[in-house]
Amino acid sequence: MPGSRHADLLRALRAALGDVAVRVPDADHPLTEHLQDWRGRYHGQALAVVSPADTAGVATTVKLCGAHGVSIVPQGGNTSLVGGSVPDASGEQVVLSLRRLNQVLSVDADNLSMTAQAGCTLAAVQQAAAQAGLLFPLSLASEGTCTLGGVLATNAGGTQVLRYGTARELCLGLEVVTAQGEAWTLLKGLRKDNTGYDLRHLLIGSEGTLGIITAASLKLHPAPRGCATALVPCANPAAAVALLREARQVLDAGLTACELMAPLPLSLVHTHLPDVVKALGGLPLPSAQTLHAGSPWWLLLEAVSPLSDADAQERLAGVLTDTSASLSQSLSQRAAMWRLREAIPMAEKTAGRMVKHDIGLPTSHIPDFIAQVEAALRQRWPGSAVVCFGHLGDGNLHFNVQPPAEQAQGAGFDAFEREANTLVFDAVQALGGTISAEHGIGELRKHELSARHPAAALAAMRAIKQALDPAGVLNPGRVLPLADEGTHQA
Ligand SMILES: Cc1cc2nc3c(=O)[nH]c(=O)nc-3n(C[C@H](O)[C@H](O)[C@H](O)COP(=O)(O)OP(=O)(O)OC[C@H]3O[C@@H](n4cnc5c(N)ncnc54)[C@H](O)[C@@H]3O)c2cc1C
Repeated sequence: MPGSRHADLLRALRAALGDVAVRVPDADHPLTEHLQDWRGRYHGQALAVVSPADTAGVATTVKLCGAHGVSIVPQGGNTSLVGGSVPDASGEQVVLSLRRLNQVLSVDADNLSMTAQAGCTLAAVQQAAAQAGLLFPLSLASEGTCTLGGVLATNAGGTQVLRYGTARELCLGLEVVTAQGEAWTLLKGLRKDNTGYDLRHLLIGSEGTLGIITAASLKLHPAPRGCATALVPCANPAAAVALLREARQVLDAGLTACELMAPLPLSLVHTHLPDVVKALGGLPLPSAQTLHAGSPWWLLLEAVSPLSDADAQERLAGVLTDTSASLSQSLSQRAAMWRLREAIPMAEKTAGRMVKHDIGLPTSHIPDFIAQVEAALRQRWPGSAVVCFGHLGDGNLHFNVQPPAEQAQGAGFDAFEREANTLVFDAVQALGGTISAEHGIGELRKHELSARHPAAALAAMRAIKQALDPAGVLNPGRVLPLADEGTHQA
């Protein structure tokens, strides 16, 4: 139970927001969905989970928490893959859930824009655009749960970045509550606006450490009239990169997705989610045994057309020289191909603990990276395996490493993780890549960021944090470690 020092804060929050907005975890209502991350790696405690109904309520919460010296963890759908959205173990933080701010405020078809509150799920934003005959293209496997505020706070990527960009490129304006509990509203929906520092870009990707996003105006696109998807086998990653290059040449901006899947993640889907493979119907995917033996790799390619599905199919067919490639003939076949790709994280989760990496590289270096690092891992741990898949079109790989059986749990796993991270991130750095392409830094990667980012860039980040949140109210110790945390590895 919270001590009396915090009883005053809880009373003040209840008086301002209503009892329903202030929940204290207890044995009957542990509120685990707010205190544990999606992967089950981080388990926090909280003084309370506070869910204001509007921007004024968010501002009040921040002011009251600040006045009581209590820090805040902003939370949307709690789908963070880097532990950024759950409180620490102290039980002294407030989780500020944005989920009740869930209204789409307006859609402007002539301006190709919409404005929505931060707690809308990504799927709700997509649906509101679709109802107006338009497209909000950001698409993630977590879209039914993750929120607009969360995808902007993490600058999420997903499957359509190749054509439409990350969340950053799709945001025209923000409404934000500062660490002092003041709100600024810049939701004009303009393509051009050079009025001083662009605070929007500072807030996007700041992971709840610089301000709380309460609403956003978004860029919409015309909904394509036609779409086609293909599953294409490739002998190896170099062949996949060559096919991507050809697809870009032939389809230009009509190429919307290029997802790479190694044999092993597909064999995990075969084993753990067989219904997903069955739903492919007649489309050829090799047996689990063939995939387990290491071939072939697969690309999921998608193309759109301003005319029709038939036109999109014809354009995409122009790229498919391999006769064993499958080209979708219906919406249900397209959906089944995407389900295969999107089932991989769940199949991995079922398969057991892995060391996760969300890395980015120049696409040209990806084949070398995979070959070099797989060989080095096999040499160091013959029983380990790499589960590699991701957004090849953006140079973003989920390069996850399955430990040998004897290091699958406990301290053995922790030691394996430390060493595997060093091996993978050293190679990423040597090839000019990034240790976090789309998931962000959060809790998981903050020590690696500190160890590997240029000192002057880190100093600039700390100065920005200090200027905007000098009291450390917003998600302290996330992205940048606290001064007393040292420089040990995560
Ligand atoms: C199955 C699965 C698939 C995924 N696939 C992808 C993918 O393809 N690409 C990708 O980029 N990510 C992916 N993710 C990661 C995740 O969905 C994204 O990070 C998402 O953007 C987080 O949104 P959220 O609302 O759940 O935010 P949360 O997880 O609640 O929070 C994430 C971070 O943002 C902060 N935050 C949340 N809301 C706000 C706000 N309103 N204002 C300020 N800060 C805020 C939090 O403090 C935290 O630091 C996936 C996750 C899962 C579980």
